[in-house]
Amino acid sequence: MALIKQRNVTAIARETLNFVLSVSKSSYPKEFAGMLYADNGVITRVDVPLTQSSNVSAVMNLFMLPVNPHLIGSVHSHPSGDMNPSATDIKMFMQNGDYHIIVGYPYDMKSWVCYDRVGKRRHLDVLDVNLDDKDQVLEDILETFGEEDD
Ligand code: ZN
Repeated sequence: MALIKQRNVTAIARETLNFVLSVSKSSYPKEFAGMLYADNGVITRVDVPLTQSSNVSAVMNLFMLPVNPHLIGSVHSHPSGDMNPSATDIKMFMQNGDYHIIVGYPYDMKSWVCYDRVGKRRHLDVLDVNLDDKDQVLEDILETFGEEDD
């Protein structure tokens, strides 16, 4: 049931987008990559599953994502500022859901694009939502990955 609902994601919460942009900024000049979770058609949470290695592309880490019904795709940064997906990006997109955001330097509200699994642009609205509703998503994430003390 959750899977059917997640197929139609139309928006990202402004707070979540701001988080993505600020993490991308603080990771610069390195790449940042994480997973996107949605509830009721709105992306409400991003999670960074693995410690970023300086030798491995951040995107490569996303090939190892565990299954979670709220997981709808990925997000990663392009420090170059070019927001087009690379061949490696598309390969990862195909394996990890149908909504993939690339944020490009300088990481402002205009420097992000959402793609589908084959690298076609998607439109996402930015919504001001009350993220109190994210608790179920967070619970599922913790169930999948275990508690983290951060
Ligand atoms: Zn990329």
